[in-house]
Amino acid sequence: MKRIMPRSATPSLAVALALTVVACSPPETASPPERVAPEVTAARLYVFDCGTLQAADLARFRLTKEEIATTTTNLPVPCFLVAHPQGRLMWDPGAVPDADWTPTGAEIAHHLVLSDGGERDLTLRKPLMTQLADIGYSPADITHLAFSHYHYDHTANANAFAGATWLVRQVERDAMFADKPPGLTQPSSYAALKTSNTVIIESDEYDVFGDGTVIMKLAAGHTPGHQVLYVKLLKTGGVVLSGDLYHFPEARTLKRVTTFDLDQAQTPVSREVIEAFLAKTAAQLWIQHDYVGNTRLKKAPDYYE
Ligand SMILES: [Zn+2]
Repeated sequence: MKRIMPRSATPSLAVALALTVVACSPPETASPPERVAPEVTAARLYVFDCGTLQAADLARFRLTKEEIATTTTNLPVPCFLVAHPQGRLMWDPGAVPDADWTPTGAEIAHHLVLSDGGERDLTLRKPLMTQLADIGYSPADITHLAFSHYHYDHTANANAFAGATWLVRQVERDAMFADKPPGLTQPSSYAALKTSNTVIIESDEYDVFGDGTVIMKLAAGHTPGHQVLYVKLLKTGGVVLSGDLYHFPEARTLKRVTTFDLDQAQTPVSREVIEAFLAKTAAQLWIQHDYVGNTRLKKAPDYYE
């Protein structure tokens, strides 16, 4: 614990004051030791459960019930943390801010009204901050924040990480803070980022920690600055977090673009670039909203390394 010496006090007086404070303070009121974020020696990837969107309308994804392998059209919403020796990157912090719902320990149903009047139903289980705390981190430990894109189901808890450095592309930031933000955004969820320390990404690739293990890659189309995240792990190998490049694995095999991708012609071009990258690096693609894929992922406190 640091003690601030009163400016007017002589050293001997300060010592006397400090001794008096120690002598008078019962041990139970002493400050706890300063908490330190867990250190890691190599990158780790944590997957959090940030809820599940209920009953997606397949028509919006240009798919039919007959074309998809699952009977459910529920879309999981995972949040991700990359813990790296040089810092901690939060990727896509959820669909519903923790402050907007009360956990009960059981799964709860939540009705969400978007700023454009759109409505969604989700199930939620555990707040993101609780899941973070369970692995030893507080929001203040998060050094970097990035979204695959600005849609509400990828930004919800952004304000909690306003103290981190925000990594964002200019087109996305401009849209987010426009007088009339785009559909499917929830501007209140990221309002605090307006004054965050911000790095504007200008290149297609951005190496977050400078060692080639955590790289954001532009994959525009769904939104103007949509991006995916490549994480190179020692044991697992390469993983690419898809953002919303695809929502269903069948969108990948059948080459379907959603009706709400902003640039319908750009998405297939970006997909080709990312598919070539996957082939070159032999990385796995984790489609973030893939229901079956998500059930197979290890969830925090477990992690990939
Ligand atoms: Zn999404």
